[in-house]
Formats: sequence, C-alpha cells, structure tokens
Amino acid sequence: MNHFEFKDGVMHAEDVPLPQIAAEAGTPIYVYSAATIERHVRVFREALAGVDDPLIAFAVKSNPNAAVLATLARLGLGADVVSGGELRRALAAGIPAEKIVFSGVGKTAEEMALGLDEGIGQFNLESLEEAETLSEVASARGVTARVAFRVNPDVDAGTHSKISTGRADDKFGIAIDRAPDAYARVATLPGLDPVGVAVHIGSQLTDLAPSRAAFLRVGQLIATLRAAGHTILTADLGGGLGVPYNPAVPAPPTPAAYGAMVQDVTAGWNVRLIFEPGRVIVGNAGILLTRVIRVKAGKNDPFVVVDAGMNDLLRPSLYDAWHDIQAVAPQGEHFRANIVGPICETGDTFARTREMDQVVAGDLVAFMTAGAYGATMANTYNSRGLVPEAMVSEDRWAIVRDRQPIEALIAADRLPPWL
Ligand SMILES: *Cc1c(COP(=O)(O)O)cnc(C)c1O
Repeated sequence: MNHFEFKDGVMHAEDVPLPQIAAEAGTPIYVYSAATIERHVRVFREALAGVDDPLIAFAVKSNPNAAVLATLARLGLGADVVSGGELRRALAAGIPAEKIVFSGVGKTAEEMALGLDEGIGQFNLESLEEAETLSEVASARGVTARVAFRVNPDVDAGTHSKISTGRADDKFGIAIDRAPDAYARVATLPGLDPVGVAVHIGSQLTDLAPSRAAFLRVGQLIATLRAAGHTILTADLGGGLGVPYNPAVPAPPTPAAYGAMVQDVTAGWNVRLIFEPGRVIVGNAGILLTRVIRVKAGKNDPFVVVDAGMNDLLRPSLYDAWHDIQAVAPQGEHFRANIVGPICETGDTFARTREMDQVVAGDLVAFMTAGAYGATMANTYNSRGLVPEAMVSEDRWAIVRDRQPIEALIAADRLPPWL
C-alpha cells in the first residue's frame, strides 16, 4: 500500500500532483510520501504487537535522507547504521543514541570511538579481530561497549546473490558453530559486555523459510551461550523483508506473516528483540520521477530515453531489479518498449521489452518502489549532479535534498600545482 495514486487521470503523491513537482523542481527527482512511511511503520509495529518492547532500528543505508530519518525519529524508531557517516546522520536527525545499533564488517577504530563517545546502544561485531579492536578502543576510554556477535547461520536466503549475506562463504559475521568460542573469548576482553546475538541473512527476502531456519539456529545458540554462563539480553534479527516490486509476481510475505513467524520462533527466548527493517519501511514510499527526453526507434521495440540514468537509480543495472514503470498522465494506450537512461553504458537500461503506458517526448514517467536503495546509491557518473529528493505530506511538499549543481562537482576537483 502506498499513497501514489491517480486522481483525475494524473498520478499524485498524496494530494500533490506529480507534474507540479516536476514543473517546479525539475526532473529527475525522487519523491517520498510521508504518509506511506508512517503507514509502513504502523504496519510493522502492529505485526510485532505480541513482542514485548521491540527495538525497531531503521536500516539507514536504505534511505539516509534527513527528512526520512527525522520522520522515523518522531515515530520513535531507532537506527541501524553501518558507518560513522550514517551514525552522525541518525543522531543529527534526532534518533537517540541508545536506540542506535552499529553494524558492518569494516568498522574502523575511529568509527568505534565515535559510537562509544555518543553512547550508542549496541555494536554488532562481525569478527574476533574486530572485537579485539573495540576492546582496545573502549578500554582506552574507560568505557564498556555492549556488543553482540553477528552470526552467519549458513542459510541461503534465496535472494539476489549480491544481497545474500548469510551463506557460509559470504563475508558477514562469524560462523555460528564457532560463536560459543568467540563469546568465551570476548568475555575475557576488557571494555566489552557481550549482551546479545545478531543475524541478518539478506535483503528482498520473499520467503520466510530461510529466516525461520536462521532464527531457530540463533535460538539454539542463545541456549548454548546461557548454559555456558553468558547473560544474553538482546537478539537482533536484522532486516531483509522484501517488498512487492512487480505486481505480476507473487507478493513477498506480509509484515504480519513475518511477525507471526518471529513470535512463534522466539517464544521463550526471554530477550529484547531488535529489528533492522529498511526496504519494507521506505521502498514503496518513494518514486523516481523522470521525463521522457525522446522516443527513439529500435530494431524491434522503441527505446524510451528518460532523463534519469543508472547513476540516479542503480538497482536495475546492479541487481537486474524490476521497477514498475508508469506514465504520470497515461492516455490509455500501451506499447512495448525498452526504457533507458542517457548514460553511455548499455547497463543504463531500466527495462527491456516492457509492456507499458505509451509515452512520447516530454511525458513524465514514474519508477515505482524507488524509496529504498535509490537516492542513497546515486552517484555522479557522466558528470551528472546528485539527484534531488522531495517529500510530500498531504497537500504540502518540500525539497529535502537539493539537486547538486555541476559547479559543485567542478569545484570539488583540484589541479596539481604543475598545471
Ligand atoms: C542492509 C541491512 C539491513 C536492511 O535490509 P533491508 O532489506 O533493507 O530490510 C539490516 N541489517 C543489516 C545488517 C543490513 O546490512
């Protein structure tokens, strides 16, 4: 469910017609619906209604825009961060430090120090080597870090390989069967308090079975650790729940089904559960609004050349991802076309042989479900400034990130003294 709907034949974001945003702010531009974000938080919370005081830590990497984070902060969410930069953005948006979990396989000593100085809630460690570094950094500051190990349960999440993270030879976490030794070792290190266990097996999960299998293994580990004398207070079940991108394929499990599975598996764990949803909160809450530059004849189907490129929305090129593509003011005709951007790469293709609304030069087109892993992955390839973002709330809208002018790109370069 989202709030991008047609009214009088024109797609609106809540009560704002998209052509108005395009006319005033230009294209391409990401547009977010605050009501959709709020709705998804409500649905996720309701799905966990039977869980005592869960911490819902939004995965900042999916959409780190300040307006998005501030919306979530007001709704009481925490944050899952994977860099010092994300940590600072979460704090700046008003997310309290104690609701922040620091994940990621490559935290530096500087990032650890920042997390400790800010008093974040928990570090999710991915190796013993990392635990040793955090122990040194925390001891030097005379503080104790609450830590969990992210365990790798050796479960194939069945999603795209580039976003599968829980197979034995993926880079993430420590092998679950080596976890008891790792906790025993950490218990001897100064400055660390092992309080929890964490797991995250991948993203855009469309089947609950792999998560269930992973959580069952985590439950067994918690029992093993407790039997060995550790006090386990938290279990971080990660994120990963998928969202519907393609209306023609079966929808991923609902948050309600996910919540029921979680409550079934975790009954009796006696821990505080942490969740790290990203995509399921913001995915359907954003679109990428773009304008057709021209329609070019192709060998078979025509090429619809739009003013958004793979630099603005990387997912189709990176993951072969499918985005629904809709005309903002459809005329009722359809055609089969290839939708491409202006970038000088064949990979700059959003869709091939797609049945879609017929469009002509100048028409507006929306890439749906672009709120997660959209703007945050944008880059400036082909010397295109970073794409702007707007947020709508009812009949109001505001630019929440400026379009990056080419002058800013040029000004960031430096000439060496000999030129
Ligand atoms: C990316 C990531 C998430 C969020 O994944 P979604 O699929 O967006 O829900 C959560 N936790 C960790 C550790 C991640 O790397």
